[in-house]
Amino acid sequence: MAAKLNHLQLFVVYYSLIAILLQISLTCATELTWDDNGYILYCPCMGRFGNQADHFLGSLAFAKILNRTLAVPPFIVYRHHAPPYSNVHVPYSEFFQLEALTHYHRVVSLEDFIEQLAPTHWPKGQRAAYCFESAAQRSVDKKSCPMKDGNPFGPFWDHVGVEFDRSVLFDGLSFSSYHQPHWLNKFPPSEHPVLALPGAPAQFPVIEEYVGLQRYVVWTERMVQEGQEHIAALLPRPYVAIHLRIGSDWVNACKLLQSGDTGPHFMASPQCVGYNRHTALPLTMTMCLPDLAEIRRALKLWVKKTSARSVYIATDSESHLAEIQKLFKDKVKVVSLKPDSAQLDLYILSQADHFVGNCVSSFSAFVKRDRDVHSRPSSFFGMDHAGKMYKKQEL
Ligand code: GDP
Ligand code: MN
Repeated sequence: MAAKLNHLQLFVVYYSLIAILLQISLTCATELTWDDNGYILYCPCMGRFGNQADHFLGSLAFAKILNRTLAVPPFIVYRHHAPPYSNVHVPYSEFFQLEALTHYHRVVSLEDFIEQLAPTHWPKGQRAAYCFESAAQRSVDKKSCPMKDGNPFGPFWDHVGVEFDRSVLFDGLSFSSYHQPHWLNKFPPSEHPVLALPGAPAQFPVIEEYVGLQRYVVWTERMVQEGQEHIAALLPRPYVAIHLRIGSDWVNACKLLQSGDTGPHFMASPQCVGYNRHTALPLTMTMCLPDLAEIRRALKLWVKKTSARSVYIATDSESHLAEIQKLFKDKVKVVSLKPDSAQLDLYILSQADHFVGNCVSSFSAFVKRDRDVHSRPSSFFGMDHAGKMYKKQEL
């Protein structure tokens, strides 16, 4: 039948379809209604992806505690060594489904909030920033929240086109459920509809109670497709995937361990030493910074245990590909992509038949949580188990 249509007719059909699609998207867009329970806005201003993801889970939980809609911020990607040599702000929905979050709590993307809701409900001239008194102490007048001071703060709010008109300070509160009544008392949504914060209303690393929220962080179809294509083309199953966090910044970070004053927890380490500070297992240098001997040992063990046919190496610097390939001769295919996007590595790591991560790294922690949600096994360098599986709890 299509073959019988001439060019003009096709043209008309094509543009009618586009008009209909546009109509649908416009209708959906105008459906965004204001939430009288208020909103939480924040800048994911600490750390790179792994840190931002940890903070996101806590912020999502906090929004639910206050029963406010969470304005989901874009991820901040630091591209200072490659074009465009500045911060890039990647919408959450580039990587993950916004809709999946709504099964836990109400969300809106920060971009949609700014574009569709802010003009009427949070207009220019009435935008308050909220922060701890201690944070405001650092400002010149000691009364202003440092919302746009320095990088990435300034570029973030500039990106969304927000200037702050005044500051509201608080003290003696924390971002925990314990302080819920205090928050509601101090900042009822009727008087404080939009709580805009300089940083995430959450702890780093994510607390044990909120680890399970990872199940609402669901890859987009596009990411799944791209990731699965790479896996199908390069990685015969079963495959073991490892995360090598061994770059120079990490070498420096792990040196702090040797000084001995890091305490029972160090960065993302609760995920393997345990969340309880009193019963935490010791964190060794091998766990923080596995050397080639440890990488070989762990790989040999897990390749054998899973009868792996290939190995995937994700790395922040060196891949040790040649050394690892030598270890397995031609029996196992060894692959490292070094993709431009860290999320492709995350996806491939998340789908492996076994994953060996770095316990101290929040980048590894993201993978570990995602795998736990899907009951996929993981372990850590310097430790051949990965603690208990997190219950798929309804939170
Ligand atoms: P953490 O510092 O390990 O806790 O994790 P972060 O995510 O906060 O910072 C590490 C950053 O280094 C990541 O966000 C990536 O940008 C980069 N990175 C680290 N490991 C890898 C890797 O295996 N692959 C890729 N593509 N990037 C990595
Ligand atoms: Mn980091």
